[in-house]
Amino acid sequence: MRQSMTIIPTLREVPSDAEVKSHQLLLRAGFMRQTASGIYSYLPLGLKVIQNVEKIIREEMERAGAVELLMPTLQQAELWVESGRWNSYGPELMRMHDRHNREFALGPTHEEVITSLLRDEVKSYKKLPLTLYQIQTKFRDEKRPRFGLLRGREFIMKDAYSFHSSQESLDEVYDRLFTAYSNIFSRCGLNFRAVIADSGAMGGKDTHEFMVLSEIGEDTIAYSDTSSFAANIEMAPVVNTAVKTGEAAKELEKVETPDQKTIEEVSSFLDVPAEKCLKTLLWKVDDEFVVVLVRGDHELNDIKLKNLFNAAIVEPATPEETKEILGVNFGSLGPVHMKTSEIKVVADAAVQMLENAVCGANEDGFHYVNVNPDRDFPAVQYEDLRFIQEGDPSPDGQGTIKFAKGIEVGHVFKLGTRYSESMNGMILDENGRQKPMIMGCYGIGVSRTVSAIAEQFNDEKGLIWPVNIAPYQVHLIPVNMKDEAQKQLGEELYEELTRAGYDVLIDDRPERAGVKFADSDLIGMPVRVTVGKKAQEGIIEMKIRENGESFEIPVGELLERLK
Ligand code: ATP
Ligand code: MG
Ligand code: MG
Ligand code: MG
Repeated sequence: MRQSMTIIPTLREVPSDAEVKSHQLLLRAGFMRQTASGIYSYLPLGLKVIQNVEKIIREEMERAGAVELLMPTLQQAELWVESGRWNSYGPELMRMHDRHNREFALGPTHEEVITSLLRDEVKSYKKLPLTLYQIQTKFRDEKRPRFGLLRGREFIMKDAYSFHSSQESLDEVYDRLFTAYSNIFSRCGLNFRAVIADSGAMGGKDTHEFMVLSEIGEDTIAYSDTSSFAANIEMAPVVNTAVKTGEAAKELEKVETPDQKTIEEVSSFLDVPAEKCLKTLLWKVDDEFVVVLVRGDHELNDIKLKNLFNAAIVEPATPEETKEILGVNFGSLGPVHMKTSEIKVVADAAVQMLENAVCGANEDGFHYVNVNPDRDFPAVQYEDLRFIQEGDPSPDGQGTIKFAKGIEVGHVFKLGTRYSESMNGMILDENGRQKPMIMGCYGIGVSRTVSAIAEQFNDEKGLIWPVNIAPYQVHLIPVNMKDEAQKQLGEELYEELTRAGYDVLIDDRPERAGVKFADSDLIGMPVRVTVGKKAQEGIIEMKIRENGESFEIPVGELLERLK
């Protein structure tokens, strides 16, 4: 590619609204531009990098037996109503309607679409297992879009879904995709760690996140200093608190409060076994405590708890909404934030209520009147909570817990029958019986991965792309385009390298040497080949971006040296 023919709008100044290195550098190096909050255009260099990451993903996905397809971005509300997520997904779902006033959403993820597709096309266990993936633009109306591509509102995701007739088959494909993910992030050159992402899975089998270790990561990882144990801290405390709240829950039955429902009534209202509907989880987010009342059966763990927490903090529901969603009137007992159809997230003021009286009135006109924490029931002692901490023994009994920050670039998940049950995705099994398909889902943030790479590979001069990811492998710079010898040798090398299969960017602009070199360092191709004053003697300079080493070589040696 000729620089004179493309657009690489480099900036000398650090854009004021860009807080982190990757965001600053991707803007400064002319890889992208923001059009609106969390929405970006990928300029030619940015697109190349995206495509290189996609290429690695495609190769590894295909190797793991996954097949590519492409589903629509526009999804009709009916599908989301069927799964129950139209109401529960919350404000991150970008909703809209067509000219006939029919409701739609811009897909943040595709469980609904793919389940509806497969339920119509696959009727027998004989067609399974099947793993399908796509690479596509996703939309999430994030409350706080930030750090450039790391948290966008429009971003590129690779999402895959697997379908099975047995748990063993799911386990096998999950393991295969786990390996594929490890390969993908290794090939991207990233320093990452696979971590347990879910409370129900402290055994570590059912969901993992792939975390790039980075100071700017929004997640905290608790890991053992001697074993392979690693968990997302947002999930780690659950091990401890679940037990505690389990016990606290038992006492609930003893609490005598006006209008209180019995455990059995709540259980039948929530349609969950009694012992399960009493499992509450306590969490601390931004110094605010929230209670999550979890229906304890396993599929529910697929709901992204962290999403819920974000939503819980930023979008408090009105008491009316709460009542509509929860079916529980919290009356004067304070704000209830949000929930999905199966998980109820309640904030601070409602903690006491939930801890002590999970069985709140759930019928019209029923609510607690004149009930005060401490007087009518004991207030929760926050100090009693046990959050996992640095220095704790690792849950696997090996080593001590340390903390690190991570960027979630991938997430693999055993969904089970969460979607096939709610959306009627049935197949006939070996015995001719109808049963729901068992599913897994697997996501990679493609644009986020590009940012994570940029975050990890840079220096004070600019970006330093790993060879696999770099937009061009060679940056060819004829220093003075007015010098006939330089210009001509530059053109010859451009031809020769291109013919030899290299992706070459030639800086054929009539710019000063200083500008060309500064731009070159900023955009960060792995190798720079400079054609300067010694062009006439057939001597050029080769410089390695990563370590800054440079050496003069005869033109004839270039191809050999590049190998
Ligand atoms: P996060 O916890 O960062 O909000 P998530 O858990 O909501 O991410 P998933 O639903 O697991 O995200 O989606 C799969 C992948 O998509 C994530 O692992 C991440 O790499 C990427 N991703 C999610 N949200 C965004 C976003 N707003 N911008 C860029 N990439 C994203
Ligand atoms: Mg997450
Ligand atoms: Mg999210
Ligand atoms: Mg996730």
